[in-house]
Amino acid sequence: MIHIGSLYYRYRSEDSRALASEKALLGVACGAAGIVLMFYTVRISDTTILDARHIAIVLAASQGGLIASAVCGVMIALFRLVFFGVSTTALLAAANVIFYAIVCGYLSKLRWSRLRKYLAMSAVAVGSTLLVFGIVLPKEMLWYTWLMYIGFSAGGGVLVYFLMENIIVSDLLFQRFKQQSTTDFLTGLNNVRRFDKALNECIRSAMQRGERLSLLMIDIDFFKSINDTYGHKAGDDVLRELGGVLLQTCRSVDTVSRNGGEEFSVLLPDCTIERAVEVAERIRHAVEAHAFPIEGGQSLRITVSIGAATFPDMMTRSDELLQMADDGLYQAKRSGRNRVCVAS
Ligand code: GH3
Ligand code: MG
Ligand code: MG
Repeated sequence: MIHIGSLYYRYRSEDSRALASEKALLGVACGAAGIVLMFYTVRISDTTILDARHIAIVLAASQGGLIASAVCGVMIALFRLVFFGVSTTALLAAANVIFYAIVCGYLSKLRWSRLRKYLAMSAVAVGSTLLVFGIVLPKEMLWYTWLMYIGFSAGGGVLVYFLMENIIVSDLLFQRFKQQSTTDFLTGLNNVRRFDKALNECIRSAMQRGERLSLLMIDIDFFKSINDTYGHKAGDDVLRELGGVLLQTCRSVDTVSRNGGEEFSVLLPDCTIERAVEVAERIRHAVEAHAFPIEGGQSLRITVSIGAATFPDMMTRSDELLQMADDGLYQAKRSGRNRVCVAS
């Protein structure tokens, strides 16, 4: 049940904060889990059965705070009364569940580590249940029941804790790797994998809407000499800074990528070749005018060469767009660098 529940979190959007409705939903899921747990009991004597419903509440509080644990607690308490009948014991048990659900909810707000909160919540839930046992059970049964319940809860609690931690950590890694697989680690721009995907998507949408799609290929001039003169680290600083300059010069609908090394690209949806050349010139001027800071307070000047191409104006096949932009870049390099060229 924990694993299935965690899939929801794995596939929801990464950085959106949990909404109150999501927390309530988590409470309902944990409440359902608690109710199921009430059927999987361990009989320790003729009159006493134990279950692990409190773990559902601790889990709800750990992951969804007060909202989730309150919803979960109310569900379990109501079910206890409706399904197993109203009696003094049942009322006490229901009140107990609601009591520790609320305390666990408040404990979840503390700025403690996950482990410390989990231990504190478990201690409150188990402790208050031990008190209830003290009230309802005959003296001769008490020690035995207490010990059994403590052992049972400790075993279940440890198991659930490790399961929960494992899922949290693997989800975190999953999100991080997913993000890293499409992001260039140095500049934070799209990497070439994401660029390929974006190129295909843009071509498809341009064909569907009958729009033009332009592509700029951008390459730093004499970048090798920056590495050779100032070191690889300074080269990296320049690449990172250039990523920022490109993002600032482009529209939010444009896709800016680092295609590898000191080569960048910009996909310009719904953009004619004239507009694309304008944008490329704007980029070229912005780079030329920009001071690229490197370590030691120095700053460097660089220039870029840019090739531009537009689909479908300049080609019949969409897979030629990349080649045409590259051809433009090659011409820009051949004809002296620091310029924008459209392949002829
Ligand atoms: P051109 O004007 O013809 O483009 O000359 P160039 O020196 O810029 O081109 P060349 O292809 O000869 O050299 C590219 C250099 O980019 C070589 C390589 O060391 C450097 N480079 C590639 N990736 C990175 C990187 O991630 N960091 C740094 N610092 N340098 C890199
Ligand atoms: Mg270069
Ligand atoms: Mg190059």
